[in-house]
Amino acid sequence: MLTVDQALAAILDHVVQPGVSWQPLQDCLHLVLARDLTTPHDSPPFDKAMMDGFAVASAGFDLGRTRTLPILETITAGVVPRHTIGPDSASRIMTGALIPSGADCVVPIEQTQFDEAAPQTVMVAADVVSADRNILRQGVSAQAGTPLMNAGTRLEPQHIAVLAEFGVAEVPVHRPATVAVLATGDELLPIDQPLTPGRIRNSNEPMLVSQIQRANAVAVPLGVARDDRAELRDFICRGLKQDILLLSGGVSAGTLDLVPSELATAGVSQVFHRIQMKPGKPLWFGRLQQDDHTCLVFGLPGNPVSSMVCFELFVRTALRRFSGLSDSAPRMVPAILTQDLMVKGDRVTYFPCRLNLTATGLEATPVPWGGSADLRSTADANGMCVLHPQTSGHQAGQQVEAILW
Ligand code: AMP
Ligand code: MG
Repeated sequence: MLTVDQALAAILDHVVQPGVSWQPLQDCLHLVLARDLTTPHDSPPFDKAMMDGFAVASAGFDLGRTRTLPILETITAGVVPRHTIGPDSASRIMTGALIPSGADCVVPIEQTQFDEAAPQTVMVAADVVSADRNILRQGVSAQAGTPLMNAGTRLEPQHIAVLAEFGVAEVPVHRPATVAVLATGDELLPIDQPLTPGRIRNSNEPMLVSQIQRANAVAVPLGVARDDRAELRDFICRGLKQDILLLSGGVSAGTLDLVPSELATAGVSQVFHRIQMKPGKPLWFGRLQQDDHTCLVFGLPGNPVSSMVCFELFVRTALRRFSGLSDSAPRMVPAILTQDLMVKGDRVTYFPCRLNLTATGLEATPVPWGGSADLRSTADANGMCVLHPQTSGHQAGQQVEAILW
């Protein structure tokens, strides 16, 4: 049986990143840039007024003097000035407008004497005039030809805005993975059906679909395959067309746990089966390589918390690598246990916790949890802490590693 770290390494070995795909900017939130980008033009692209006021030439002002200047024109944002400013003239100018040639200072309107009823002239005192005042010079934020953004950047709203500023309408990104979800089991009922003896509702499908969406990938739910070889085979064939296929259930040692053998029949090579961890021990992982199509296949244990934990640890890691992120490993953060906790057994346990950020750091409060089938208690959790086997148990105040969901 592999350890968690060995399993993560084996999974990362098998992820094939997709090539560059060009996507419209507005569809790129949370996708990862696939190429280094160079700044295509200066920012700002022209000398720009930062205040509403008057554009003047500072050279014409002697210290202590106040001057009355004729106003040549009014320059609003987006308009090209028609007149050059000389030592004895000014133009009215608005924030964002292009600075007219000859001017090197914008005096805010409230620091001048200006009468809207007589808008031909403005009085400006020398002490409010100096070179470069209230002008954002062309290229001070970014210069054409310099690096703009590096490959591997996950695009957040601020990146989307910068790309828009520089006219990058189609963005080179790694496309998101498509992930098929196949629940298996004769006992599974649709969520809108009343319970009948021996049956339960299919909670894994909506859970996995939501986890896929949270990981910025595209979920392709396939429905439920009964524990029947022919039906399972048919569903598996469909699922293998995606980048990743997740099956839930049917990977343990029951008489109807048909998933590993049917995956083998479909040509999927097993990479590993079973991991030293709790919950999630029965996890199955393999890969199908057909011509130039690769499909990674995860046989997730049917018990809901096992499925959930295996997704967060293993599927998410594969998705991060697929998406183009260089750092794909699960994000571990240190947290302080708020309670004593005794976990039995000799396997590392991923224990559902409520993680709270306090003034002194992250605190982990384990939720009362009954094991891999106890889904309900996870609704009180927002992450899990990693508890290595410790004969004396874990104590309040002890630092552990945690993973936020
Ligand atoms: P299995 O791995 O198929 O033996 O399933 C293990 C346990 O998980 C059983 O109690 C199943 O009823 C339960 N289970 C399997 N699939 C699902 C599902 N899609 N939703 C909720 N529980 C499930
Ligand atoms: Mg089953």
